[in-house]
Amino acid sequence: MRFKWALLASLCICITSAHAAKDVNTLKSSRIVGEKYLGQCETSLSDIRVQLSDLKRQANQSQKMELLGKLNNLLIDIDLLWNHAILFSYNHPNEAIRKVADKCNGELNNIQSEIDLSVDIYNLLLALSKLELTPDESRFVNKKLADYRLNGISLPPQKREELKKINEQINKLGRAYLKNVREGVQTVYIDSVEGLSGLPDDYIQSHKPNENGRIEITTNYPDYQPFMLYGNSDKYRKALMEAFLNRGYPNNQEVIKQLVQARHQKAQILGFDTFADYVTKDKMIKTAENAQLFIDRINELAKPKADKEIARLLKRLQQIDPEAKQVERWQYRYLAEKIKQEEYQIDSKEVRQYFGYEKVKLGIFSLMENMFNIQIKAVTQPVWHEDVESFQVIQDNKLIAQFHLDSHPRPHKYNHAASFPITTGIKGRYLPEAALVTNFPKTYLEHDQVVLFLHEFGHLIHHLFSGNHEMVALAGVNTEVDFIEAPSQMLEEWVWDYDSLKKFAINEEGKVIPRELVKKLNESRNFLTGILTRRQLVYSAMSLGIHDKQPKEVDWENMQRNYFNGYSAFPNVENGNMQASFEHLVGYSAVYYTYTWSKVIAADMFTRFMKEGMINKKTAQEYRSRVLAPGGRKPADQLVKDFLGRDYSFESFKAHLGE
Ligand SMILES: [Zn+2]
Repeated sequence: MRFKWALLASLCICITSAHAAKDVNTLKSSRIVGEKYLGQCETSLSDIRVQLSDLKRQANQSQKMELLGKLNNLLIDIDLLWNHAILFSYNHPNEAIRKVADKCNGELNNIQSEIDLSVDIYNLLLALSKLELTPDESRFVNKKLADYRLNGISLPPQKREELKKINEQINKLGRAYLKNVREGVQTVYIDSVEGLSGLPDDYIQSHKPNENGRIEITTNYPDYQPFMLYGNSDKYRKALMEAFLNRGYPNNQEVIKQLVQARHQKAQILGFDTFADYVTKDKMIKTAENAQLFIDRINELAKPKADKEIARLLKRLQQIDPEAKQVERWQYRYLAEKIKQEEYQIDSKEVRQYFGYEKVKLGIFSLMENMFNIQIKAVTQPVWHEDVESFQVIQDNKLIAQFHLDSHPRPHKYNHAASFPITTGIKGRYLPEAALVTNFPKTYLEHDQVVLFLHEFGHLIHHLFSGNHEMVALAGVNTEVDFIEAPSQMLEEWVWDYDSLKKFAINEEGKVIPRELVKKLNESRNFLTGILTRRQLVYSAMSLGIHDKQPKEVDWENMQRNYFNGYSAFPNVENGNMQASFEHLVGYSAVYYTYTWSKVIAADMFTRFMKEGMINKKTAQEYRSRVLAPGGRKPADQLVKDFLGRDYSFESFKAHLGE
């Protein structure tokens, strides 16, 4: 998730242009094969550098509109090369290509910084803003000018120099923080096999006692997560959670203070009171104060539901420990899992049989075809690995986009799930193209994985359907960062709909997923919404709270306790130091709230489908043309308003929380 945002954010910086005609297909296929990429990156980089220096040299000339075209061309070339660099550095099986792509990525970062700091280009944009422009040109120019101003272009040279140094320091501290967490893996020692009671057999088999007869359980996810779900030992779950919260402690205690201090200095130079004010300025939420109001408002909505859930968990806990007075944070996953098995009788093996990979894939395709009046056709193309499948998207007998599925795990491949843009669609020039990279088994998917498949498809269609603009900076998913997860989270809803599922959730014997089972899945989905929402609020409030004041006012000693007590459904875990182990503080800084924010908007947009039908073509068409296709052409709140016919509200999120 974080990676994806970083990826998208890096693309958001890229801007715009209109290009000299190139042979689209030759360019595309030669890159996708990969082998030719080795030499191509250097050639393209040199070409981009020449374009950039020409543009800077010519920036004062009078043919401003021509220069706008050149700037757009430059940005299109950067975007194309950058997309490939990211895709290949994370996914190409050939090590030499991964290395070149990595290097290319670094070089492009430098080129982008040069553009972002260029007074020549800023002055060009300023001159352009005074001319008569099309609405898109004007949106691009003004958006870019706002970015330049936000990042201090009009400061005196020595201040800009200072800013540059602070930015480098921020990057360095961020890397150090992440490294400390990564390398701070902790181990909990379990005295005997009895300590593993409740865990699945394969887990026990793969955790044999060491020479001293003790079993080592680390804070790495494959060890940690099953233990928190299934481990019967309360003592070891507690120890493991404390260890998890202390992965970066004590090393990061000082690093995070310095990072917050450096960010604060940056904000001050740029004329903001706090870093949170600076970083929310170009988001939908606009101000740090709004972000805090949002967090508190969601807390108010989620608390009654969370309290009910806690009461239910406590009742279950008292069957184990009749003296128990409260549920602790290391207990809730375990108790919830028990309730799911006992009360909803959901057996994941039973669910999985309906979700064969091929059927799910084709089911999602046909859902998209029905909703959006398109056809998805498999094609053979040269690609970066033999597992990768390629598809064309056709509408009214016209090819409108292409995508690839790189669905199964292999070594040296990105190990989460993300939609990687390959080509940003440019009107009359490039077709939009993207790759969905996931790590699904070739056989059967878990229900969660089907949800994830749809989620990533939401990102994919956003990129494909918004790929028909002239300006690259307005195409694709170049919207506000706190909107990006809304289309993806909304599309997840179709996985919970029986009428959508019955078309493809069919087992080997041809039996359709039972309606009763889908109902149980929905009930168990709603079971923890209050607690999980409040958990996100702890993270959101901490992320905002360390950046929305003077650094000396931050209460580092009581950090975790304060935010737990304010927002969590559970008491604080007294020996934990989350502020030293919370990796999102690096990539998200003050804006972790974006997850919940996008969710609120997704829930609201979904109300139209609930009312008008999940596969209502007219609704889907309006969603596509008003929300997805415009890309960054309008502010995101306007896109949502265009679709809903009103401003977004919190009512539907309240309904999503359930009773
Ligand atoms: Zn996402």
